[in-house]
Amino acid sequence: MARKVADCRKYPSESGCTLTIIGEEDEVLRAAVEHAVSVHGHEDGPELRGAISELLEDETTTMHAT
Ligand SMILES: [Zn+2]
Repeated sequence: MARKVADCRKYPSESGCTLTIIGEEDEVLRAAVEHAVSVHGHEDGPELRGAISELLEDETTTMHAT
């Protein structure tokens, strides 16, 4: 089963954050939401979770992309 990648460089951000989170989809989503809230000051909610889940990529896809 492919793991999912959340690459913070792909999110609109003023802090230039380079964090990448890799794991199973629910793990990545949870960690990315916590990160977005604590570091980037986003508001936790269905909107944020939806936006993040749409940006998740398969680990294999990302590895071949670069
Ligand atoms: Zn970040």
